[in-house]
Amino acid sequence: MQSYRKIIIAFVAVMLCVANIKATNNLKIAENSLHGKKVLYVYGGWEGHEPEKCRDIFVPWLKSEGAEVFIFDQLSCYEDSALMANIDLIIQHYTQGEISGSQDKALRNAVKRGVGLAGWHGGTGDSFRNNVDFQYMIGGQWVAHPGNIISYTVNITDKEDPVTKGLNDFDMKSEQYYMHIDPNIKVLATTIFSGEHDYWIEGAVMPVVWKKQYGKGRVFYSSLGHVASDFDVPEALEIMKRGIRWAAESLEKEPEKLVSPIYK
Ligand SMILES: [Zn+2]
Repeated sequence: MQSYRKIIIAFVAVMLCVANIKATNNLKIAENSLHGKKVLYVYGGWEGHEPEKCRDIFVPWLKSEGAEVFIFDQLSCYEDSALMANIDLIIQHYTQGEISGSQDKALRNAVKRGVGLAGWHGGTGDSFRNNVDFQYMIGGQWVAHPGNIISYTVNITDKEDPVTKGLNDFDMKSEQYYMHIDPNIKVLATTIFSGEHDYWIEGAVMPVVWKKQYGKGRVFYSSLGHVASDFDVPEALEIMKRGIRWAAESLEKEPEKLVSPIYK
């Protein structure tokens, strides 16, 4: 009887261990997560965000990681069903502008199906102001950057997540994005508003970097990157690269449960 109990205890211990390894593996981003991946890179919109210069930072890097990159400077590519059926990840850096109903539907259906999506600043966080469906997918919408170009600190709030693990707080001189935020995002980094420019938001804590799910698709966003030279800040670039790698694994990993009911 005693040995029978020992066997059961050992079996349960092994199963817990396996479950733990599985959970850890799901969190870990593979070093070569972009190797062989097909990436749709879409850029354009408001020129002030330097879509061409940013393309020239990220596309060569994606290729150096072994990704195959399909590059478009317009949104009609979202309606190319053969292309959309073939990709693992969409990177969109397209500020403002308008997306048609069919383009928007095709884009969101791809992500719902499991294609990853990654973007930064206004290229994803201020893309189509009159499209709430797109904003629902991203998890935030830019509304203000008080003081325009100012000095501020980015605080790493999640030190366990692979996207921000090992990184320290760092300073930016750029637009500090004040965003309308979906409460059900997994926040990895934040910034605090000083109140110098808009006194009534003194002490406001605002998400800067987050992950979320949209259907089966992984969505990654960072509000850093007003201009291409913002990525001269090593942490800003590293966060974006890691977020892209995480989103690129979307189709091959189980969706994560990232809902965080913070108002309960
Ligand atoms: Zn900007």
